[in-house]
Amino acid sequence: MNQKLLRQIPKVDELMKQPRLQELCGSVPAQKVTEAVRQILDELRASILNGSIEELPDMAGLCAQAVAVANKKAEYSLRKVINATGIILHTNLGRACISDRAAAAACEVAKSYSTLEYNLEAGRRGTRYSHVEELLCRLTGAESALVVNNNAAAVLLILSDMAQGGQVITSRGELVEIGGSFRVPDIMEACGAELKEVGTTNKTHLRDYDRAITEKTRALMKVHTSNYRIVGFSETPSLPELVQLGHERGLPVIEDLGSGSLVDLQQFGIYDEPSVQDSVRAGVDVVSFSGDKLLGGPQAGIIVGRKKIVDSLKKHPLTRAMRVDKMTLAALEATLRSYDAGLTAEIPTLAMLAATPDQLKAKAEILRGLMVDAGIAAEVVPTEGQVGGGSVPTQMLKSFAVAVQPKAVNLDQLETNLRLGSPAIVGRINHDRFLLDVRTLRESDFADIVKAVGEAEK
Ligand SMILES: *Cc1c(COP(=O)(O)O)cnc(C)c1O
Repeated sequence: MNQKLLRQIPKVDELMKQPRLQELCGSVPAQKVTEAVRQILDELRASILNGSIEELPDMAGLCAQAVAVANKKAEYSLRKVINATGIILHTNLGRACISDRAAAAACEVAKSYSTLEYNLEAGRRGTRYSHVEELLCRLTGAESALVVNNNAAAVLLILSDMAQGGQVITSRGELVEIGGSFRVPDIMEACGAELKEVGTTNKTHLRDYDRAITEKTRALMKVHTSNYRIVGFSETPSLPELVQLGHERGLPVIEDLGSGSLVDLQQFGIYDEPSVQDSVRAGVDVVSFSGDKLLGGPQAGIIVGRKKIVDSLKKHPLTRAMRVDKMTLAALEATLRSYDAGLTAEIPTLAMLAATPDQLKAKAEILRGLMVDAGIAAEVVPTEGQVGGGSVPTQMLKSFAVAVQPKAVNLDQLETNLRLGSPAIVGRINHDRFLLDVRTLRESDFADIVKAVGEAEK
């Protein structure tokens, strides 16, 4: 019986000649299709030998299997995911989604030659940093600006240039660890600067900084506690107070702002996230922040501050090692132009933050309607989401989700099937329901989501 079935297994060539697989070779490399065919035939042989199948699938069935395997093999490792978690700046899912304008700008300079380091008016060499400096200064009120690869690099550069061989005074309440082993004390050490901790976890007074200043002190540093908050019996001097002290003692004040928003987030109901303008206005000498957190742009570390300090940073050898590429600069310029023109609604991060519960409920109803039309059992439920990306840790955002009740699989299987599908969909299981939070979903993805859920619940 086995022998007969084994002999009936089609040859690789025979399957490859099938129109369905020939057609696939137009979009997937032929070698991948051949590998897929070999793989399914090997699996078929193994199943026959262990007795788990007693009848060969027909040609169409084998082709369908080969198509699925070949498509999987051809998938990119770094690829799109539909974020149904409701977490806007999901670090593992790539933080901020850039705007269409920013993506188009990045694509244009990526595919062509550009003014990256060329001044067209003068007909000679220009500088890579000029493209966003004026915009950054106008938007933040700072004298000068510089962009590097990310904010971690920005902090490293600032401390290396300003504090190497000296001390930097920081409050014990601000010795932040962000993900990926970036810890303020370790960074300080890596820069050859000595961290002088002052105050306590919950309270640091201005006099604590004052008393710690010695001839070894190079700067006072403020670190925004992005991913945690110290509340209750707590106190820390205001920025203007710290700046006044620093300047009286002839010391610069450095601030690692983490997210660094350029708009007042109170309009979106977020009350404890400072803006870059606040820091510049308070007189902080040099401020650094991320491009891809609340700013909603590409990954970058943005430094703004006094011209004398930024000029020195521009000349530091590390700056070359942290240099941003043209795609990042193009996307950043486009993002900053949206701010400059007051068009913040076109920045996805801000649009997602701005969505009101009523709007989100209506969006969830649309998705639920499409699900129900497709025969999927779904309802709309209220949820609480987060900003994410180590930002705004204590405030939850009211949102709505579509809760799916799968028919033929359990919740874990549904979650896995969606995560492994194409496009991949990442949602979450909560109170025995699978939730798709609509805050982070795009309506243009709804059709794909409904199709994927329909297939995943089978
Ligand atoms: C996020 C963050 C950083 C690191 O920024 P990246 O752009 O991710 O490198 C540094 N400091 C603080 C306080 C942060 O929140």
